Amino acid sequence: MNETIHCLSRRGFLKTAAAGAASIIGASGNPAMASQPQVTMPMRPFGKTGIDVPILSFGGSLNTSLSMLVLRQAVKWSVTYWDTANTYMGGRSEKGMGKYLEKYPADRKRIFLVTKSHAWDTEGMSEDLNLSLERMQTDYIDLYFMHSVSSSSELTEDKKAWAEKKKAEGKIRLFGFSTHSNMEECMLAASGLGWIDGIMMRYNYRLMHTDDMRRAMDACSQAGIGLTAMKSQGGGQVKTDTESELKLAGRFMKKGFTDAQAKLKAVWEHSNIASICTEMPNMTLLMSNVAAAMDKTKLPAREMDLLQQYARETRSDCCTGCAAICEPAVGGHIPICDVMRYLMYARSYGDRPRGRIHFQKIPLRIRQQMAGRDYGPAEQRCPQKMAIGRLMRAALKELG
Ligand code: SF4
Repeated sequence: MNETIHCLSRRGFLKTAAAGAASIIGASGNPAMASQPQVTMPMRPFGKTGIDVPILSFGGSLNTSLSMLVLRQAVKWSVTYWDTANTYMGGRSEKGMGKYLEKYPADRKRIFLVTKSHAWDTEGMSEDLNLSLERMQTDYIDLYFMHSVSSSSELTEDKKAWAEKKKAEGKIRLFGFSTHSNMEECMLAASGLGWIDGIMMRYNYRLMHTDDMRRAMDACSQAGIGLTAMKSQGGGQVKTDTESELKLAGRFMKKGFTDAQAKLKAVWEHSNIASICTEMPNMTLLMSNVAAAMDKTKLPAREMDLLQQYARETRSDCCTGCAAICEPAVGGHIPICDVMRYLMYARSYGDRPRGRIHFQKIPLRIRQQMAGRDYGPAEQRCPQKMAIGRLMRAALKELG
């Protein structure tokens, strides 16, 4: 989620961030010192839950204990939808949010708090939930997710019964799941269930135009499921190596956006998206994203078209999460889609430690099989035309 760190150029970024900040902080001149929030963060309904959420949410896949000032400022700027997970940073993300809530207990009722469990069964989910409540020093979670669902077969009746029980106990208000792979299949299935309140899925300028994603979005909206976009940058910054990249970069600059801000705007164009979850480990990113959220300028159709063109031209740079297409082609045991994501953390986010931590959770037996596989059949099926074999070998080298 830490994608907004990428920008066309430092100069352009600072110019834009500064312009946005001026509108945010008004006369105080110092965002960190702004005692009165000068912003009215746009809000959107979270599906049919009756709850409105800010269109920008704080992605907490970081050690939030080190981000107290950022959390404080986020609340002041109404970035009050906070997303974390029981596993983020080995629990340090939840603990940091707990530290914040202990210090500022009055803010709890303003915050729409989301966390997730990676447990495979309801017993594990109960243990995870209790631990999350304890770590975050709260009695309830606003939205509780099953983490990283990749198949509709995971949306079982026992999960439904568990969610109903926890709601009745007052421990969670809403229930749903996050999904990084096979998102469209999971979303379509969820739309017919009637017990999924919210979904957080990969969604960006690369994915939003596909028929499958459009169908899944429509089905979820009709079912009243609240939708949060993540991975909204589509894999990293717009580079400036080619003519078309420079053209795109130049157009955004002229409009006063960084490419990261333009990509957020492209996602917000879709009213079905309630919020964008993105990591904001420092004040600069928070300020830049808040500026983008506050800015009323629409991303012009021409820029949207150029983004789409850029997505086509660079499609082999970005995995779109359709694991059901490539993984069966190599026997179904190699988590190609996950490995692509871990490489993205390392390469596009510049966060190799995160990529390595995830990669090394893949059982050794599977990692050993990765090198010798023939990925030709998977490459032939991949709609993004990714060099899967080369990238799997690169992952072994860079993350192994
Ligand atoms: S590697 Fe290709 S087929 Fe496999 S999940 Fe990524 S985009 Fe889809």
